[in-house]
Amino acid sequence: MSPVALVTGASRGIGRGIAVALAAAGHDVVVNYARNAGAAEEVRAEVEKRGVRAHLARADIGDAAARAALVDSAYAAFGRIDLLVNNAGVAPAVRADLLEATEESFDRLIGVNLKGPYFLTQLVANRMIAQDGPPARIVTISSMSADTASVNRGDYCVAKAGLAMMTRLYAVRLAEHGIGVYEIRPGIIATDMTGPVRTRYDKLILEDGILPQRRWGEPADVARAVVAIAQGALSYSTGQVIDVDGGFHLRRL
Ligand code: NAP
Repeated sequence: MSPVALVTGASRGIGRGIAVALAAAGHDVVVNYARNAGAAEEVRAEVEKRGVRAHLARADIGDAAARAALVDSAYAAFGRIDLLVNNAGVAPAVRADLLEATEESFDRLIGVNLKGPYFLTQLVANRMIAQDGPPARIVTISSMSADTASVNRGDYCVAKAGLAMMTRLYAVRLAEHGIGVYEIRPGIIATDMTGPVRTRYDKLILEDGILPQRRWGEPADVARAVVAIAQGALSYSTGQVIDVDGGFHLRRL
């Protein structure tokens, strides 16, 4: 029987790359999305092309009832979850200065980017503990923003910093159940989310050398790290942070 992965926000961008790579590595995939059914259908086709099963599940990760329904539908479809990938996330609607940004934006970012994965992980972890079979794993896609201060999107940074602590907490709590918990911290990845800043980041990356490895990241770069974890490459590590950022996190002089 194939292992089962639930990937949130799998209709586009990094989540789509992860879903397809996990399918290529032999996983059945629960493809969660929020609104974009057409894009999710494309991912279904990409997954099934690789000889495994896909189950589409529309659910707003920021909504408690929707999270519960998502987990129920994943278990109804496949009977288990071996890998949870907390990937779904949103950027602020406008990049506003820290001295002007609104509570409305803060609540949205915390709801989708932090509270959603925090409680989805709780739900899935309890089900993983109760299931038989090989050790399950949980991967959360945070961001370089977990420890890089961008004062024009403080809400996003605070939510991502929260995911870093969430990973440590669940890693400690779930170790006794054999569940490994990991954080992947992407840098600047070419997706719809970074579309609006493409030109500015082109300059930073290609001309100014902000990244030691002078290129944009691709969803496939993040997906390879997820597959390595899924295949047990880090089975004697937990709570580990993996930077997939072209070396951005390195201090330089
Ligand atoms: P993206 O291209 O904007 O795609 C976002 C995905 O998340 C879509 O599949 C979207 O579904 C889904 N989604 C959005 N809100 C959701 C919600 N409330 N419930 C369920 N699904 C939801 O973003 P991305 O660049 O791939 O980013 C993916 C993750 O990586 C995010 O957590 C982001 O913060 C993080 N990240 C991105 C970068 C980067 O440079 N791109 C860097 C570091 C970290 P629909 O298609 O239905 O809208």
